Amino acid sequence: MDKIAEIANHYDSILTVSGSTTAKIAGNKITELLDCDSLIIEEGATNQEVEKLKKKIIEEDITLAVAVGGGSIVDVTKLASYRAGIDWVSVPTNCSNDSISSPVASIKSDGSSISTKASAPIAILADMSIIAKSPYEFIRAGVGDTIAKYSAVRDWKLGHIIKGEYYGDFASSLSMMVAEVVLNNASEIKERTETGMGCLIEALISSGAAMAIAGSSRPASGSEHKFSHALDMLGGSKGLHGDQCGLGCIIMSYLQGEDWKRIRNSLKTAGCPVTLKEIGIDEKKAVDALLKTKEIRPERYTILDHIKIDKEIAKSALHNTEVV
Ligand SMILES: [Zn+2]
Repeated sequence: MDKIAEIANHYDSILTVSGSTTAKIAGNKITELLDCDSLIIEEGATNQEVEKLKKKIIEEDITLAVAVGGGSIVDVTKLASYRAGIDWVSVPTNCSNDSISSPVASIKSDGSSISTKASAPIAILADMSIIAKSPYEFIRAGVGDTIAKYSAVRDWKLGHIIKGEYYGDFASSLSMMVAEVVLNNASEIKERTETGMGCLIEALISSGAAMAIAGSSRPASGSEHKFSHALDMLGGSKGLHGDQCGLGCIIMSYLQGEDWKRIRNSLKTAGCPVTLKEIGIDEKKAVDALLKTKEIRPERYTILDHIKIDKEIAKSALHNTEVV
């Protein structure tokens, strides 16, 4: 809390942005402390909410936005701040995905999520006493979204070799380290120890840094993210973004010829879903999602393009990795 006041001292007009729940967790307290205006995001990460916030920022000459919450609050704040040309601070109340630190906003449109360029926060103030108390479904989703970097980095390297795409050693190594550290600390995270929670939040922050270094979400998002976006488009999954990406990472690592069993074991140890049933979808929907990935960001070359994914390959991958 002292840190936020210190940062706020450098700005004339501040606005806190929360959801109705995160306002109660920390938003109201910060608004009171800074003696500033506040806004509640009601609908989630939609274009309407981004426009509503941008309008308020411009009309009221706001110079700093403070996002208090998880994925959607942070996504709306970072995009509106970017478009209005002001700084923003991230105060995560959970650790469900790497949006808390990344320069990319995920906005819902027509049932699917679109990744849009935004700016990274000028500071991330993570209060571990708040994050460690968040529901475990958010923590396990954060594990899935970080372990997913394992297949994302392999896809990036493939895009570099086959398509001559830019590939940065530093950003890719950092992103791979994010996955490795979480893979090795799965049980600590499951038990919510200080080491485990610290490692997860640092991994999510580092993932955002890797994207900022690369100038795109390439180090953090590959075929497993396309699979997750395809599931969102098809509807019916009970899994959070990170759950879907973690599950996708098992399948993609298998297709990449990597050690998918290690991915699966760590996800299982951390209490993450490792079967379709756990996120409420059946084999047909998973096959449809794998085929639908072709429509998502076709310029982003992944293992699914490389092996020319079809129904047969999709089915055998699902069975061989025991996700079905
Ligand atoms: Zn993600």
